[in-house]
Amino acid sequence: MLKALCIMERTAVADIVNKEGSEVELSGWVHARRDHGKLVFIDLRDRSGLVQVVFGPDAAGAGDLRLEYVVRVKGIVQKRPPKLVNEKMPTGHFEVSAKELAILNPAEPLPFPVDEPGYDINEETRLSYRYLDLRRERLARNLALRHRIVKQIRDFLDHRGFLEVETPDLTKSTPEGARDFLVPSRIKQGSFYALPQSPQQYKQLLMVAGVEKYFQIARCFRDEDTRGDRQPEFTQLDLEMSFVEQEDVMRLNEELLIELVRTIVPRKKIQEIPFPRLTYREAMERYGTDRPDIRRDPNDPDLLAFCWVVDFPFFEKTDEGGWTFTHNPFSAPKPEFMDDLLHQRSIPDILTTQYDVVLNGFEIGGGSIRNHRAAALEAVFGVMGFAKDRIRENFGHMLKALDSGAPPHGGIAWGLDRFVMLMAGEPNIREVIAFPKSGDGSDPMMGSPSPVDKAQIDELGLELKQRNAKK
Ligand code: ASP
Repeated sequence: MLKALCIMERTAVADIVNKEGSEVELSGWVHARRDHGKLVFIDLRDRSGLVQVVFGPDAAGAGDLRLEYVVRVKGIVQKRPPKLVNEKMPTGHFEVSAKELAILNPAEPLPFPVDEPGYDINEETRLSYRYLDLRRERLARNLALRHRIVKQIRDFLDHRGFLEVETPDLTKSTPEGARDFLVPSRIKQGSFYALPQSPQQYKQLLMVAGVEKYFQIARCFRDEDTRGDRQPEFTQLDLEMSFVEQEDVMRLNEELLIELVRTIVPRKKIQEIPFPRLTYREAMERYGTDRPDIRRDPNDPDLLAFCWVVDFPFFEKTDEGGWTFTHNPFSAPKPEFMDDLLHQRSIPDILTTQYDVVLNGFEIGGGSIRNHRAAALEAVFGVMGFAKDRIRENFGHMLKALDSGAPPHGGIAWGLDRFVMLMAGEPNIREVIAFPKSGDGSDPMMGSPSPVDKAQIDELGLELKQRNAKK
């Protein structure tokens, strides 16, 4: 027989339930190990699950196995004796009687157990060994859930004619609310790119370009103090549509949210459909917050209470006594306030087309209809006290684009991490991000941020005030 024909195909652990009596080859990690002298039992783990493997007295090497060794096992799938059935394990009616064992790689003792949820392990330690932390079933499940959510979003939007378009990560610093992460340019010394706080401007430019329906699973960067549940980089489902009104964007997003819940987490119950709507004022009066938790029973972990919050004031006072936007400088006012905006009068009364979608007290998304006419966008910056040349310098490209036949358009962005967190029932977004940053914005596993060689700093034409660069 040809040698190639003798090579067995790897079986996924979860599939052994259909292979009673057959010989299988499994590869994975030693998840648990029980040495009974003559018999050694291991729970072998691969991405699909766990299975018990039994090594008899003549199984060479089984005694050497330790936790997290990577092994390949050949053996026969057999039914477990009735009293040894483990109902808690999907493969618990079966085990594999090993005939051959190969140790593909031994492993050092673990810094922490990976066979439990791991909530009580110090987070810095978990993040330092994230590649081990991600081996725990809970996190593996979260990654898979996130994948399914993103895939479903893509399919849903694809069916409705949206194009997924990538936009740059190296872009321009504009005053958009948060602090920018800056990237020094080597070629144009003294100039900086900014990492995008969101693809807001690009997606609007795509509307000017005639894309009509855009979306992106987009990474956003905001250099803010990482308090609570924020991350310096996070992911948005970002979308934008042309020739739409507020209702169109809200309806599409509501349909998508409902479909995601029904198909991906069907055990969860949506409290009210259509999602109730509150004005900003109602939310503040009734709940004292613009992201109200309207759950009738907050103790039910499977209850999802979505609502929309609308009619936000466009502007709020700054500490210095001027005006700034509450959400997004690119938003349009509600049509009945357009005149006031253009004439820059009755500023505190102007309401924006902003709509936020809130779930169980978390803002999971927000968007608006945009100013597709340059004069309206200029007026927004005028209210904020920007001089004409500053507006031109920062946003000239947008004004020019709006003057080139920009269609009416609007969109939304979801905080995808937060949405996945709520679907997974996790307490914070770090549990649903493969490689999150720790509380101070650092990555203890990679050791970033880190000093760089002096030569690299010099090449950028920069000089550090405090020389902590490596010599
Ligand atoms: N770009 C906005 C944000 O990041 C969302 C939007 O209005 O589409 O909050």
